Amino acid sequence: MEDAVNVSTGESSGQIVVAGAGYAGLHVAMRLTAKLRGHPAIGLTLVDRHDYHQVITELPRVAGGTRAADAVRIPIQDVLATRVRFVQTEVTGFDLDGRRLLTGAGPIGWWRLVLALGSRPNDFAIPGLAQRTLSVYSASDAEQVWAAVSKALTAAAAAADPGRQRRLATVVVGGGGATGVELAGELAEVLPEAARRHGLAPGRAAVQLVEAGPTILAGSSPQLIDKATRILADLGVQVSTNAAIAAATEEGFRLKDGELVEGGVFVWAGGVKAPELVADSGLPTGHNGRVKVDRYLRVLDRPQIYVAGDLASVVDPRTGHVLPPLAQVALEEGETVARNVDAEVEGKPPEAFTFHDKGFVVSVGTSRGVADIAGITSGGHAAHLLKDAIEWEYRQSVRHLRGWDPVPG
Ligand SMILES: Cc1cc2nc3c(=O)[nH]c(=O)nc-3n(C[C@H](O)[C@H](O)[C@H](O)COP(=O)(O)OP(=O)(O)OC[C@H]3O[C@@H](n4cnc5c(N)ncnc54)[C@H](O)[C@@H]3O)c2cc1C
Repeated sequence: MEDAVNVSTGESSGQIVVAGAGYAGLHVAMRLTAKLRGHPAIGLTLVDRHDYHQVITELPRVAGGTRAADAVRIPIQDVLATRVRFVQTEVTGFDLDGRRLLTGAGPIGWWRLVLALGSRPNDFAIPGLAQRTLSVYSASDAEQVWAAVSKALTAAAAAADPGRQRRLATVVVGGGGATGVELAGELAEVLPEAARRHGLAPGRAAVQLVEAGPTILAGSSPQLIDKATRILADLGVQVSTNAAIAAATEEGFRLKDGELVEGGVFVWAGGVKAPELVADSGLPTGHNGRVKVDRYLRVLDRPQIYVAGDLASVVDPRTGHVLPPLAQVALEEGETVARNVDAEVEGKPPEAFTFHDKGFVVSVGTSRGVADIAGITSGGHAAHLLKDAIEWEYRQSVRHLRGWDPVPG
């Protein structure tokens, strides 16, 4: 870990500071390392609260107990060139006019700042939700979900009454977007065998997916939604749509129509919002607190600060909509930010960001999935293999950029 005081004083004129070592931030740092080879005087600092990068897209597997948490944590020091100074600390705020990032290890001065702090679960101010549900946004979160499922199965096995057994052995997932669908599918696949190992009768364990809107995977093609719905049904997942949660209580999810959804484990996967510290920062924010940027991914009216990933509110000029919080988007934005910071160093003009949509792939269970690629919808084993290939390719790209050997899943 680097002593932040060393990077906070004096020479901030040549300092590029990247806050957040997730999909966007790590890739900005890695790509800038290569681009700035001819500029040894320019400092490059990466800041994150963890000393590892998390492969978040693989978290549903950790939550389903099929992958170890450590297998989705990539040690940052192993993938960064010595050129990059890594500071493991909490970012606590911003001194925008003084051009300093405020951190637990002291202020860090910057010439250019890249904000890539990601997002956090959005509970939409639903009473009890934050307190009574687990989330899946880090390897530790996902590990906790699987631990909670195992504990609930143990409790169910100790219960005498079949109704109580059934309730305890039911996992309720709130939010039918890609994360909720992946999680529900993964759990539905592994739960019967896990329940059997706990001595529970067949059919005791269950997964319920609760979605406020009229459909799961909102915004996807009807064909994709249909295929995903069929696979979930085949896996025994009970899907409730138009089922808005009014409150999370000790008894379970209380829906707006009064129905009570009971279970032993409750997981919330209903959406994300920007980290709390951004709200009071003075940075211009839009929907869900994401930071508004221009077409070069620079903060509006603060062109020395770039934003990439979930934190950035980037309007796609072709659709007029803000791009969704996806790893695919974060990586592409990271590339543009790295190119634009390099362009500034080289005295060249910046390039506008354009999103090249490679398609949408969602795993549904451990061996099937759905995909929409180039207008063609597929469902089944091929789509799952595609998801595996994307994840493999991502790990390869990280390895390629520095030469790191991934931990086998
Ligand atoms: C379960 C799940 C499954 C997903 N599956 C897919 C998928 O299949 N495909 C897809 O395209 N997208 C998927 N996503 C979305 C994708 O993971 C995000 O869009 C992506 O992680 C965003 O990248 P980012 O760099 O903006 O943020 P992150 O990857 O979250 O990185 C943010 C970084 O900032 C650090 N950080 C945050 N706050 C602070 C602070 N105050 N101080 C210090 N460090 C801080 C964090 O530790 C983290 O390293 C999934 C998301 C989830 C939750």
